[in-house]
Amino acid sequence: MELEQMFSQKGKVAVITGGARGIGQASTLALAKAGADIAIIDLIDMSETVEQVESLGRKCKAYTADVTDEKQVNDTVHSIKKDFGQINVLFNNAGIALCRKCEEMTYEEWKRVIDIDLASMFLMSRAVGRVMIADGAGGSIVNTASMSGMIVNYPQEQVAYNAAKAGVIQLTRSLACEWAKHNIRVNSVSPGYICTDMTPPTTNKAWQEIWYNMSPMKRMGVAEEIAGGVLYLASPVASFTNGANLVIDGGYSCY
Ligand code: NDP
Repeated sequence: MELEQMFSQKGKVAVITGGARGIGQASTLALAKAGADIAIIDLIDMSETVEQVESLGRKCKAYTADVTDEKQVNDTVHSIKKDFGQINVLFNNAGIALCRKCEEMTYEEWKRVIDIDLASMFLMSRAVGRVMIADGAGGSIVNTASMSGMIVNYPQEQVAYNAAKAGVIQLTRSLACEWAKHNIRVNSVSPGYICTDMTPPTTNKAWQEIWYNMSPMKRMGVAEEIAGGVLYLASPVASFTNGANLVIDGGYSCY
């Protein structure tokens, strides 16, 4: 296989949740540069991402939907299939972070984090998986987990987030085994600390200093450093990569 074909998304349609900004936006652009047409799902204004994808000569459509709402997810995936004719790649990426001491966390807050960071990935995978299975052409699903699915972050306390992301890793492995027979590969990417609106430069300076000191590379990553991993997992070159959790954290979780 030629290098260009290894990472080619030509003729593919990719669906990205949380694609308006951050890791989702950078990954959207990587997939579009590799040739994919793009459907983005988010709650905020997506026009900037749409313009950037279109400037690359790719088709792009934005769908405003809450990925925790079963009806909105099913209706949106139905619309994408109608608008694009096929779905080949799903990047399940929308998420939120919430730092709370367990003893101070409300049950509503717990449920919100589990809903957005874990349950949404089930809803989106099920809706898109149904399309991929019916079409019979296989596909690739990439879920955004986190190093927090494997380690416990310090010093901030975020029990719901860590539990949700651990769940994403097992959801990924389970679906990878269930859907291999349909030629659908399912993998996750686990970022370490990445500079996005979720972790802006204004984040608690004392925490940041601890994160840098605990990291072998003494820095945070940028969204483009995750996008390369997402593109790899979505691409033909990863045809034997299934149920994997690609950790991109600058070595943070090695300590
Ligand atoms: P951002 O906050 O920059 O982007 C997340 C996007 O998801 C936002 O546009 C957000 O919209 C959207 N979103 C949130 N909830 C929903 C919902 N219910 N329905 C539809 N869209 C929604 O975050 P990042 O790019 O940093 O994070 C992307 C993923 O990476 C997340 O899953 C996160 O947990 C994970 N991650 C991030 C790390 C980091 O250090 N940044 C580290 C490890 C993992 P809105 O603004 O309306 O909420």
